Amino acid sequence: SDTLHIIGAGLAGSEAAFQAAEVGVPVVLHEMRPAVGTFAHRSGLCAEMVCSNSFRSDDDERNAVGLLHWEMRAAGGLIMAMAGAHRLPAGGALAVDREAFAEAVTARLTAHPNISFAPGEITDLPRDGHWIIATGPLTSGALAHSIRAETGAEHLAFFDAIAPIVHADTIDMSVAWRQSRYDKGDTEEERTAYINCPMTRDQYEAFIDAILAAEKTEFHAGETAGYFDGCLPIEVMAERGRETLRFGPMKPVGLTNPHQPEAKPYAVVQLRRDNALGTLYNIVGFQTKMKYGAQTSVFRMIPGLNNASFARLGGIHRNTFLNSPRLLDDRMRLRNRPNIRFAGQVTGVEGYVESAAMGLLAGRMAAAEILGRDLPPPPPDTAMGALVHHITGGADAKTFQPMNVNFGLFPPIDAKGGRRGRKDRYKAYTDRAKDAFTQWLAAQA
Ligand code: FAD
Repeated sequence: SDTLHIIGAGLAGSEAAFQAAEVGVPVVLHEMRPAVGTFAHRSGLCAEMVCSNSFRSDDDERNAVGLLHWEMRAAGGLIMAMAGAHRLPAGGALAVDREAFAEAVTARLTAHPNISFAPGEITDLPRDGHWIIATGPLTSGALAHSIRAETGAEHLAFFDAIAPIVHADTIDMSVAWRQSRYDKGDTEEERTAYINCPMTRDQYEAFIDAILAAEKTEFHAGETAGYFDGCLPIEVMAERGRETLRFGPMKPVGLTNPHQPEAKPYAVVQLRRDNALGTLYNIVGFQTKMKYGAQTSVFRMIPGLNNASFARLGGIHRNTFLNSPRLLDDRMRLRNRPNIRFAGQVTGVEGYVESAAMGLLAGRMAAAEILGRDLPPPPPDTAMGALVHHITGGADAKTFQPMNVNFGLFPPIDAKGGRRGRKDRYKAYTDRAKDAFTQWLAAQA
């Protein structure tokens, strides 16, 4: 049949439904709320924003999420249109009246001649037909278990454990150095896969004090059901003993600091490459629930990271997400079951905007397929393209964790290290992206 079924009318599913319906594809939207709830949703409305009411920066010249807004608007996105219609004053951010926004999205979808609603929970991975699964971070338990039965339990996580990610070009390499522990690896690339930051005893003690003193966020009520503490936050490790980190992720063994070969470091922080481009590095083992403001100041105490800029900060949340680099092809289809696409937060992107963007893309790709066309992903130098490329191929499947959009995901512009200011460089990224995105859209007309 030529009908597109979408499970979940959240940020991603709503946008996907609208995109497909607008090009004439009949859509059935399956949503379990309000009959079946989650610990975070409060209503039965489509596109409910469960926490903050902000779509973050609206600056499309210097900010990656603002650029994503621009691309979604250029593609006629419903979420951006309704957010614009219900915007609240918030400086450079796009904040919305969440209830008016969700009501407007619901009204537009309900009124659409090509969209019908099929209320109720879907408990099994569908067999036949065209489907998009956009069930979000709180995918119902029954469906999650059915997905796990198909993909293997290790490929669908119920919690994330996000370590902070640093822009590689902001690490001070006059202090840090590249080396894998015990120089392990068959190739030069593997032997230098990690970036190491050394600490003296005084620096380590001050760092532990700062971690212990930092403000932490709490889990939401209901969020920890099923939490398994195999992946402890660093502050919990530090609370267990001042030496725990030094014998855990910060152990100083198998490493020689070429800047000071005589002085053995008391502890070492390691960063591991996070994307194929080599523009992003994550701090190994540093998943944390410290508040964002505290994280920036605590992590900048690490020698070599004093001026670091963070592509994303750490976190631990209830979050159902696929190992997309392993499971999805670049058309967002399950490799083993190509009649099923995934979209939204469940694909391992993070945030309202990113989720809606992946809904937009999946909706367009599914519609194109039903209409007998093929829609390639946007080029990787666009925000939407950078994000989908990251989750379906650019990220390392072995350590995959959810990602928000940031310029570190883009092919670098100053490959030769030209000394353009960061602000100018971001403008160059967004100019390049807008051209490429416009061409991608034009090719579909
Ligand atoms: P959702 O918007 O959650 O939509 C998924 C939909 O699928 C839901 O309507 C759900 O009811 C439905 N569904 C699930 N299972 C089934 C089933 N089996 N059958 C039928 N329907 C089903 N992001 C931010 O940008 N800012 C924040 O402040 C923020 N705070 C968050 C706080 C919490 C507690 C959580 C859990 C997430 C938060 N997020 C935040 C992330 C946020 O959830 C996502 O950014 C966004 O909502 C994801 O969009 P989505 O469409 O993928 O999922």
